[in-house]
Amino acid sequence: MIQSLKKKPTLQEKYDTIIIGSGIGSLTAAALLSKEGQKVLVLERHYTAGGFTHVFKRKGYEWDVGIHYIGDVGRPHSVMKKLFDYITDGKLHWADMGEVYDRIFVGDQVFDYVKGVGNWTDRMKSYFPGEEKAIDAYIDAVFRANKASRRFFMSKAMPKMVNTLLNGVANRNFYAYSDKTTYEVLRSITDNELLIKVLCGQYGDYGLPPKKSSFYMHATVAKHYFAGGYFPIGGSSRIVECMDKVIEQAGGTILISAEVKQLLIHNNKAIGVEMAQGQQYMADNIISGAGIYNSFQKFVPDNHKSKEQLVNSLSKVNPSVAHGCLYVGLDASPQELNLPKANHWIYPGDADHDTCVDRYIENIEEEFPLVYISFPSAKDPDWSNRYPGKSTIDIITLLPYGPFRAWEGSRWMNRGDDYDRLKEKLTDRLLQVLYKQVPSTKGKVDHAELSSPLTTRHFMNYEHGELYGLDHSPSRFRQKALQPRTSIKNYYLTGQDITTCGVGSAMFAGLLTVSAMGHGHVFQKVMGG
Ligand SMILES: Cc1cc2nc3c(=O)[nH]c(=O)nc-3n(C[C@H](O)[C@H](O)[C@H](O)COP(=O)(O)OP(=O)(O)OC[C@H]3O[C@@H](n4cnc5c(N)ncnc54)[C@H](O)[C@@H]3O)c2cc1C
Repeated sequence: MIQSLKKKPTLQEKYDTIIIGSGIGSLTAAALLSKEGQKVLVLERHYTAGGFTHVFKRKGYEWDVGIHYIGDVGRPHSVMKKLFDYITDGKLHWADMGEVYDRIFVGDQVFDYVKGVGNWTDRMKSYFPGEEKAIDAYIDAVFRANKASRRFFMSKAMPKMVNTLLNGVANRNFYAYSDKTTYEVLRSITDNELLIKVLCGQYGDYGLPPKKSSFYMHATVAKHYFAGGYFPIGGSSRIVECMDKVIEQAGGTILISAEVKQLLIHNNKAIGVEMAQGQQYMADNIISGAGIYNSFQKFVPDNHKSKEQLVNSLSKVNPSVAHGCLYVGLDASPQELNLPKANHWIYPGDADHDTCVDRYIENIEEEFPLVYISFPSAKDPDWSNRYPGKSTIDIITLLPYGPFRAWEGSRWMNRGDDYDRLKEKLTDRLLQVLYKQVPSTKGKVDHAELSSPLTTRHFMNYEHGELYGLDHSPSRFRQKALQPRTSIKNYYLTGQDITTCGVGSAMFAGLLTVSAMGHGHVFQKVMGG
């Protein structure tokens, strides 16, 4: 049954804007439009709001699904901080993770990513004497790629004609970085394979190893965290709580367990949506933040004239890899267990990232190419007020969708013994990595629950359990369809697929979408101008 976050929602006959999905891109667009005086209806299929920023609870524990750290919110004048402040009315606060935000393990060697680009550079140079020039050249390339991206992304909010006239050269500058793989750029700077492996120590943040990822994607993630990592105080659920108030104040509502089936279109103009349960809601504009495959393949009715062209426009992009996350609850406080705040990235020492991924995708019994351990309860200073004497840890690895396809038709929590056995084996392997890494956790694990690609498919409606929407390969950035406007009038897109994955980037997508809808001035408002 469709529900509201409130007990008695007051639904309008017609809305200014309906937004499909309640991911952070959708919520950003909803909050920005609400602040422009619009009544917005957000429709979320899951039983809880927030998309990947949602939390879930079991047995006295709470886990954040898709937020482990956010960059750039510690600098008061950054776009990121200003945007968060604007859309939450300044109600969301951040905890600094401290000097080390990421700790990279390659075999037995350890490399720290430390806060501040100068400190970070010095630390890398201390690990790799003789590579000083290469490290400087790397930093230079990262900043240049980010600079070149600004006009490229801003141009997505402009009408096609204006974009073509104004941005030809700017876009070419951007493609000079986005068309190359991360490995191509790094290999042109150094032939030290260990340095390349360490510089790509965050590749799990965008899901593709260096020979497959676009260098721009690598560069934007690296730069995002140079000023350190931050975690929302009170946990990720604070994001929806704060934004819901902004939406509600303008007369809007977020509905949950509210699955959109398809658009209602009249004369090639989107006028409303039809729900899976049959109801219809009407609005002047419809935005989809539910991923581009859903937005084109599922929501555009089969008999609509541009459906085939919209679906074909996705033929050159692939869904991103899927993942598994072991959500661990422990019977002791973060202080008792001496849990670190820094994320741990654990890699095999015997081969480069691409080789490790390839051999594992071929056979998931091979060593994990990457294990990421995050300690959210240690990052959140409010955790022990809410959950005294307890801790949580998230352990993530890549899991290809293929081995799980066999259970596609089965039901969540009831997929059969073979599936449970496969998960038990993976759980055990991941726990062994944790015990080796943080021995104090042994004997303290009270709850361990593994999500699989089918879990992501079930809850988030990503067909192949995609971790990050579309792949961040070089060809992704050439796809014209990945922008707010569509060929259907008043039907817009938002969220990670039109920019890149990452909370900050999906929020920026929300800003672009609202700008493309004729509210270009919101950017100045956000920046306090
Ligand atoms: C495990 C994991 C860890 C991550 N860690 C970080 C991190 O530490 N830092 C960071 O910055 N980023 C992180 N990310 C990435 C980040 O969370 C995402 O890129 C971002 O949240 C995506 O936001 P979005 O707006 O695109 O929407 P999504 O979060 O993808 O939400 C889309 C929503 O649409 C809904 N929907 C789908 N179909 C329908 C329908 N028919 N009707 C109604 N609703 C529908 C879905 O249920 C979903 O709620 C992580 C992601 C994952 C998966």
